[in-house]
This record gives sequence, C-alpha cells and structure tokens, in this order.
Amino acid sequence: MTGSILLISGPSGSGKSSLCDALVKSIKNYYFSISTTTRSPRVGEEDGREYFFVSKEEFKKEIDNDNFLEWAIVHNNYYGTSKKEVLNLLEKGKLVIFDIDIQGMQQIKKSDISQYCTYVFITTKSKNELKNRLIKRNLDPIDVINKRIQTASKELSYLNMYDYCIVNDNFEDALLKLKNIVDLLPSKSSFFSKDFIDNWRV
Ligand code: 5GP
Repeated sequence: MTGSILLISGPSGSGKSSLCDALVKSIKNYYFSISTTTRSPRVGEEDGREYFFVSKEEFKKEIDNDNFLEWAIVHNNYYGTSKKEVLNLLEKGKLVIFDIDIQGMQQIKKSDISQYCTYVFITTKSKNELKNRLIKRNLDPIDVINKRIQTASKELSYLNMYDYCIVNDNFEDALLKLKNIVDLLPSKSSFFSKDFIDNWRV
C-alpha cells in the first residue's frame, strides 16, 4: 500500500469540521472517509455525503460482518469507519482523511493500518474558550454543553497519542498548520517502500 491516512480528532466546537472543509478545498487526490452512523441526520445533512445513516440493527449487522476498521459509541450513537473502501483507496495511493473520536483513534493505533496514519488533534486553547464557542453557536442546551466540555476534558488526556495538536485560536494559522502537515505526509520515512531502501544496497 502506498497511500496514507490523516486521522483528525477534536471536540465539537473546536472548529475541526470547518478546518477540514477548508483543507479539502486546497488539496487533491484525497478521500474524506464517510462514516456510518445510527444518529439521525441534522438539518441540511444528506445520506452518503456527511454520513451513511443506518438503523441500529443495520449497524450491528455490519459489526457482525466485520465491515468496520473501527467503531465506537459516541453520545449514545454508533459511528464506524468502513473497511473495504479505505483499504482500496490506500492501495491506490490516496490520502484518506478520518474525522473520528478518541475511541476510534485507539482502535486504529492498535491495528495494522496504524503505519499509514498521522494523528492530529484539533482544539481550542482552553475549556473556557470551548464553552464560550459552544454557547455562542447556540445549538445545544447548557447541560449538553457541559457534557461536551466533560468529554473534551477526557479527550485532552489522550493528547500524547497524537502526532500533532493544532490549537485553533486563529483559523488561518490553524489551516496553514494542517496544510503543512498534509504537505509533509509523503516525506514520512514510514511511507518509503522496501524497494526504495533495497535500491540503495551496494
Ligand atoms: P457528529 O455526530 O457531531 O457528527 O460527530 C460526533 C463525534 O463522532 C465526533 O467527535 C466525530 O469525530 C465522531 N465520529 C464521526 N465518525 C466517526 C467514526 O466513524 N468513528 C468514530 N470512532 N468516531 C466518529
């Protein structure tokens, strides 16, 4: 396999989705992994674009058929990354981008495909800043916001499992950092094939 995976995690409200949207507009030859979920579509979301929306029964059948690279329960809903498509794309040398939570990251870390993966965590500079942003965007009641802060606090304790942490204090700076990481992916020593090393034998 010659492709690579950019695995991105980060709390809701960190600006992770906006950064990913802006990133993919500026790069080529990538595939944004579309997860499968049992949560209901939000207003404006389309099946097959943001997620594949399925019932709990369908999701469990996919687990039984070993169709997921990883899966997790996040905020009482199931989320999973399909295996087949990602492996095909890696074989074709594509960059595959995952937006998954820390449970998913831990499963990927333990799997064979970890060697293709670069791990990036996106966050605000503090929990107060995250709370302010969540209050400002006015999507959730205060008890849900507090729950999100608690989840974020737990996620931050896994930070050292990631290669990079981008503090999204300034959107353009954060985007530049993310683009720089993507630019350097083909230079990771782990992506050089055995043939490349063999050609250096004397
Ligand atoms: P949302 O429902 O707000 O789109 O996503 C909620 C959380 O689920 C986010 O933290 C997101 O990173 C995570 N997530 C989305 N897809 C997957 C997936 O396939 N696997 C895992 N483990 N987490 C996911």
